Parts: sequence; structure tokens; C-alpha cells
Amino acid sequence: MSNTKIEKLIKQLLTEIGEDPTREGLQKTPARVARMFADLTSGYTTSLDSLINGAVFTEKVHNMIILKDIELYSLCEHHLLPFFGKCHIGYIAKDKVIGISKIARIVDMYARRLQLQERLTQDIATSLQSVLNPLGVGVVIEAQHLCMMMRGVEKQNSVMVTSAVHGLIKDDPKTREEFLSLVIRK
Ligand SMILES: [Zn+2]
Repeated sequence: MSNTKIEKLIKQLLTEIGEDPTREGLQKTPARVARMFADLTSGYTTSLDSLINGAVFTEKVHNMIILKDIELYSLCEHHLLPFFGKCHIGYIAKDKVIGISKIARIVDMYARRLQLQERLTQDIATSLQSVLNPLGVGVVIEAQHLCMMMRGVEKQNSVMVTSAVHGLIKDDPKTREEFLSLVIRK
């Protein structure tokens, strides 16, 4: 991605919406926005392999492992506006565990792309499935979308909840119940 190109486009955009890109407050805006986009879309240039970098360990563990309340910030692909909230992840290990900071990094890698909450949830679940081959995996995301809050239907308090489940967390009702009761705050 070329920052100079994006700067030019943002300058054009400012003019098109009736602004004066040469006024003091806006002079550095195109450069700032270009850097911001590089940051918020850095997930396109990261791969799962390079991110994991060997941090999967063999352990005789067959329990449910939960990481909840992972902060999440992403951009909706329909409006380029942020959606943000919490991501909860659980998996039932099958002789393989992953460093917990890596789980948070997987979330960030997919969140820093233009996303739909539904797809983001699935991307995270699928990658954990492929990296760990666990007995089950579950991902729940609770998020608020600025495109709903500050425009359109202007619903300020609605929270969208999405889930993606595989293996035992999908097929075994008791396991699924255990997972959901651990991650969803009543
Ligand atoms: Zn949107």
C-alpha cells in the first residue's frame, strides 16, 4: 500500500465533501489518515504462520480453555466505520495448546482488515481449528457498530452477537452450554 497515493485520495475526498484541505487544521490530515489506514488494515500483510511462529505446544491437556473479553476494534466493510466490542474464545485442547497472547494476535490480525462481524467470527474460529486441531472451538463476538449508532437507524444501544462453533462445542449440547455460560455475562 502506498501512503502517498492514499494521502492524495484523502485530500481529494476532503475537497469533494466541501472542505478546504489547505486550512491549518487539515493540512496534515491526509498524511495522518494514510498512516492510520496502514495501521488499521495491517492484517492484510500478516499471515497466520508468521504470527504463530511456533508458539503451539504439545501438552497432555484435554480441557476447555477460555480467553474472554478480548478487546476488539475493526472496520465494517460496508461503511469503513468502526465496530468494536469483545471477543470470547474457547477451545477444547487435544494435546496442543497455544500461547494466549497469540490468541489475541489472531483476533487483531483478522480485525485489522475490512470486515463483517459474521466473517470475522468465523475467520478466528477456522484459524484456531486449523492451528490446534482441537476437540472443539467456539468464538463469540459482542460488538457495537458505529454505522448503526451514528447514521442509518441510529440505534445507539444495540449489540450484535455472533458465534462460530466447531467440534464438540457445536455438536455436544452440554459442552456448548458450558462454553456459552462461561463466556456470556448474564
Ligand atoms: Zn457498516
